[in-house]
Amino acid sequence: MTASSNELEPKVKVILITGAGRSGSTLLGHMLGQISNWFAIGEVFFLWDRLLENSTCGCSELVHTCPVWGQIKASFKNVSDANLRNLIEARDSLKVQPQGLAGGKIQLHNLWRRFTGKRAFFKPEQVRKLAEQLGKVYQQLAVVTGSKILIDTSKSSAHGYVLQQIQSIDLYQIHLVRDARAVAYSWSKKDKLYDVLDGKPRHFPKRSTFASVADWAWVNLAAQTLFSSRLRSERYQRIRYEDLVCSPRRTVQGIIRRIDVTASASFIGDDESVNLEPNHMVAGNPSRFSSGVTHLTIDDEWRTNMPLQDKMLAVVMSFPWMLGYGYFSRPKPVAHKEEY
Ligand SMILES: [Zn+2]
Repeated sequence: MTASSNELEPKVKVILITGAGRSGSTLLGHMLGQISNWFAIGEVFFLWDRLLENSTCGCSELVHTCPVWGQIKASFKNVSDANLRNLIEARDSLKVQPQGLAGGKIQLHNLWRRFTGKRAFFKPEQVRKLAEQLGKVYQQLAVVTGSKILIDTSKSSAHGYVLQQIQSIDLYQIHLVRDARAVAYSWSKKDKLYDVLDGKPRHFPKRSTFASVADWAWVNLAAQTLFSSRLRSERYQRIRYEDLVCSPRRTVQGIIRRIDVTASASFIGDDESVNLEPNHMVAGNPSRFSSGVTHLTIDDEWRTNMPLQDKMLAVVMSFPWMLGYGYFSRPKPVAHKEEY
C-alpha cells in the first residue's frame, strides 16, 4: 500500500509535528519555517476542509488566492467540491468518535500493530486514497516553495501513519509535549479561538480535565509509537514546549542537528528573541497570523488559576508520561503570560 513515486526524483523531507492540542505546535512550526529552505505548511490534516471553505491562510490571503496554496489548488485538475468531500470523508474515517477520549482510530491501530504485528482498525483504501493525494501535495509544495524541508504541524499520528505510506517523502517526526496540567487548563477555558472563517471567529469546545488529559495521554502514547524501534533513533525526536520557549536557540539547534546540519537558526537573536516572518500555514492556531520580532513567553496561568482538584486529577492521570518527560525532575520554567 504505497503512493506512486518516481525513484529518480529526490524525496521531499517532511517534518511532522505530533502531540496533543494546545502544546505549541503552531509556534514551533512557524519558528522552523524561518530556517532557509525549510517551509511551514500548517496542519495539512485539514487541507481538504480549508480548500473547500476557502478559509484564510497564515499570510492573510484566502487559500484559493494565496500565492502558495492557490498554485497547489491550480495544479490539481480535478479538485471538485465532491472530491474534497470525498477526501474529508476518507480522513474522518481514521477518527474514533466521540472526540476527546481518542485522537484517532489509526492511533489505536499503531499501538495494535506495534504490540501484535497485526493490521487492523482502518480501511486500507481510504489510507491509500489520502496517501496518493498528499504525496502529490507535498511534491508540488516543494516545487512551488523551492524548499527542501516541509514542516507539517498536523499533530495527528493518524496523519503520520498515512504519511508513512508515501514513498516520495522522507518522514521525520518531532513529538512536542507540554505539561498535562497546562494543556487541561487551556482546554477548560471558554471561547478559545480556533480559527477565523469569512471574518467570523470559530471557537473550540470546552473540555473537562478528565477528557483533555485522557486525550493528552492517548495522543502522546500514539506519537511515541508512530515509528518502529528500527527507525526511531534517526526519525524521531521529542521536545518540550517549555524548553522551546525558555531556550529557543538550544532547542532549535537540537532539531537542526538531527535533520539538516547545514541549516542555521539565525532567526533567533543573541537575546533569544525570535524573528517570525509571515507564513503560509494553511490551518492551525490563530497565532500563525502574528509575525515580527518577539520574546517568547510561557503561558503558565494554570499554576495560579487551575483548581487544586483538577491539578491533582491531571497529575494522577498523566503521571507515567509526565515522569518520563522530565516534568517532575527539572526546574520550573520562568513564569510568563502568552497563550497557546
Ligand atoms: Zn498563504
